[in-house]
Amino acid sequence: MEVSGVRKYIYSDTELDREEGQIIEDLKANSQPTIPDPDQWLDEKPEQNILLTTVDWFINWGRRSSLWPAICFPACCAFELIAANGPRFDLARFGMEILRASPRQADLMITAGTLTWKMAPNVRRIYNQMAEPKWVIAMGACAISGGIFASASYAVVPGYNHIIPVDVYVPGCPPRPEALIYGIQMLQKKIAQKRNVDIGKLVRR
Ligand code: SF4
Repeated sequence: MEVSGVRKYIYSDTELDREEGQIIEDLKANSQPTIPDPDQWLDEKPEQNILLTTVDWFINWGRRSSLWPAICFPACCAFELIAANGPRFDLARFGMEILRASPRQADLMITAGTLTWKMAPNVRRIYNQMAEPKWVIAMGACAISGGIFASASYAVVPGYNHIIPVDVYVPGCPPRPEALIYGIQMLQKKIAQKRNVDIGKLVRR
């Protein structure tokens, strides 16, 4: 029905039913052929769906993609590490959003802060209790060399590498989260190159 010359239509119930029925009839008429499964790759030959890789690559992929840091942040660099764990920098992208309160559930120590000799035995104990294989990122000038305190204080350890082995050094005072993330990526590259299976030993047997 046209209303006072305006091109606007108001349907009666009957017209509305007829209109809806026509839409359904049109759909039925156009829907007789079946829609093919878009996942046609399932029909491809099985050998085209087999992913070949090495045991080393697979183990290293799992390890580098699920680094769990231990909570061990003795000083001010810790705030940059905390920021890196926030939503802006999103460490969850690397599978490492879980900071472990227990060293037995951690395989990465990020040494974010100045280390004093008084604290050193406890840091070494945390490292010793971490699960194998484990890695260490020295974050900040204090972690690398004792930083600004190294020459002026008898109480500061001149670098964590006097206490535990360090894999990656991230300079700065403090390093920004971007720098820490770059260091994490360097560690991931290092883990990716690790040999887990000694082929030579297997062949000699
Ligand atoms: S490197 Fe700088 S920010 Fe980091 S713990 Fe040392 S003094 Fe603090």
